[in-house]
Amino acid sequence: MTIDLHAHSTASDGTGPPAQVMREAAEADLQVVALTDHDTTAGWAEAATAAEGLGLTLVRGIEISCSREGLSIHLLGYLPDPDHPDLADELRHARESRETRLDRMVARMEADGIPITVEAVRRQVQPGATVGRPHIADALLEVGVVSHRDEAFERFLRNSSPYYVSHYAPDPVRGVEVVLAAGGVPVIAHPFAEQRGRTADDALVEEMAAAGLAGVEAWHPEMTPGAERHAADLAAGLGLLVTGSSDYHGSGKVNRLGERTTAPEVLEAIVATASGSSLLSPP
Ligand code: AMP
Ligand code: FE
Ligand code: FE
Ligand code: ZN
Repeated sequence: MTIDLHAHSTASDGTGPPAQVMREAAEADLQVVALTDHDTTAGWAEAATAAEGLGLTLVRGIEISCSREGLSIHLLGYLPDPDHPDLADELRHARESRETRLDRMVARMEADGIPITVEAVRRQVQPGATVGRPHIADALLEVGVVSHRDEAFERFLRNSSPYYVSHYAPDPVRGVEVVLAAGGVPVIAHPFAEQRGRTADDALVEEMAAAGLAGVEAWHPEMTPGAERHAADLAAGLGLLVTGSSDYHGSGKVNRLGERTTAPEVLEAIVATASGSSLLSPP
């Protein structure tokens, strides 16, 4: 059984609509896939209909952007109740703040003569989707300033760039708390993926574990083999679940569906713990 617990659609910064991600998951011979868009569950309904038609099992999830003192932490939440007020409020706050942050980043870039406008970025974003830096990258791609999202991040969008502006994001411990409150299962995403900038350390993962973190995404294509090993050992030491996934973003990243996978017994434990939403599996 092939289980990939982390994928993005056009509900956030993936390049394919939810139904397409489901089709691609079936084509990649996955039996189980999780849709985990940044700060939104807007893609769930479309994914559910598509998965049902394909005989694919869908784990409805989310990837919550968290932050502490400038350090960015991504928290996966599996099977939460998306209407739980604590979770819904945090997500609304984050998405609203992302809008202002977009304006500010684009203003800084425009002031430096980079040919970009808020309207051009808006055209890259599906209605209701979570807007992020990858959409700015896509606008730069459209006008030919860069030839890939990666290049846009290297030249203009990385955390250390002068154009970078942060947005509201809950503290990672608060993230764990709201996922739990919503009946979901919190798993820290790609904890030591250094190519993205500064990362979590063991102490933060331990602090999150004390707050109820259920697992660690130790197998991830953007982590070095050493970081993957370290994450898995840390999780084992803390008695946490270990997951693996591709973090698929369509053509926006090289990550391939099924590139990293999660063991069936780990999925079983996640499903057994969750009380916010159900696993959607074919009859
Ligand atoms: P944001 O949440 O708006 O700050 O944007 C961060 C998102 O950008 C991450 O979730 C990744 O999906 C994406 N990202 C980060 N670095 C890169 C990169 N080098 N190339 C393509 N996408 C990236
Ligand atoms: Fe992303
Ligand atoms: Fe992430
Ligand atoms: Zn992700």
